Amino acid sequence: MKLNVIVPLYNEEGNIDALFKSLSASLKSVKYTITFIDDGSTDNSYNILSAIYSKNKSIVRVIRFSRNFGKEAAMLAGLNVSKAQYTCIIDADLQQDPKYIMDMMKFLDENTDYDEVAMVNDYAKEKASQKFLKKTFYSIMEQTTGQKVQSGASDFRLMRSGVVDALLSIQEVNRFSKGLFSWVGFNTYYMSYSANKRFSGASKFNFRKQVSYAKEGLISFSTKPLKIATILGTLISSAAFLYFIVVLLQTLIYGKDIPGYASLMCVILFLGGIQLIVLGIIGEYIAKTYLEVKRRPIYITKEKLGFDDDIL
Ligand code: UDP
Ligand code: MG
Repeated sequence: MKLNVIVPLYNEEGNIDALFKSLSASLKSVKYTITFIDDGSTDNSYNILSAIYSKNKSIVRVIRFSRNFGKEAAMLAGLNVSKAQYTCIIDADLQQDPKYIMDMMKFLDENTDYDEVAMVNDYAKEKASQKFLKKTFYSIMEQTTGQKVQSGASDFRLMRSGVVDALLSIQEVNRFSKGLFSWVGFNTYYMSYSANKRFSGASKFNFRKQVSYAKEGLISFSTKPLKIATILGTLISSAAFLYFIVVLLQTLIYGKDIPGYASLMCVILFLGGIQLIVLGIIGEYIAKTYLEVKRRPIYITKEKLGFDDDIL
């Protein structure tokens, strides 16, 4: 099989048919399969997928999770069953036009020294505030992790099977794909595109989820925040020591009485705050370690369609 397209989806009933049509139209000239991963949808998505499957058994496979495990888990489930020469990940909402898949394939066919093509959103159709937040996230990521995470590089990408194997060899439970894609290395070509508006429905990633996603990324790829305690501790104790000398000299030389409860309150509250922040940061890492050592499965499959007879 030349190409396997992985589509992670959660409550996308209004998009699935349109996406399938668009994928079929774009991929006419190539041998492909589509693997839909229904990430515990509560709407009519699974019924629509079953209907598509029963009419297109030779090219469609469906995995249904027992509940919503998140896009990361859904992408992993798709990668786990992808044995094609090329694997593509694409969102279900038609923000990422399937016509680009052929462009990416053409590039990899012609450039054997590249292993992967990633589509980079130029944010042309995004709100200025969103654009700003996303750019800030990428630059913080890069500075703290030392890991080059190409700004705007989406999960919409085409990989050779070697890249898929490398991604699967990573055993982490908390998976932050944007970082993992870059961590596994390989020669990646970045192709620019403008994401469309969502075809139907609303984004699953609200502001709160985006912030928590950014935090996950930072914690799973960098231990720098843990070092904040050492840096702040050193700075504050140096300042305290200098202040102590000043007070000592003032008292001994000038005999000045220093009334101190107001400044004492400030210092106590300030230090208390810092200690709590640092404890919180340590807590985040301990929590992640705890979740990681439990080794729970990343997703649980409830149903599978198209895996009985190997269509590959
Ligand atoms: N998605 C998923 N599980 C989730 C949330 C999202 O599989 O828990 C899918 C979603 O159905 C879509 C893709 O991930 O196919 C991207 O989601 P969305 O369009 O909501 O994100 P955005 O484009 O706004 O970043
Ligand atoms: Mg989207």
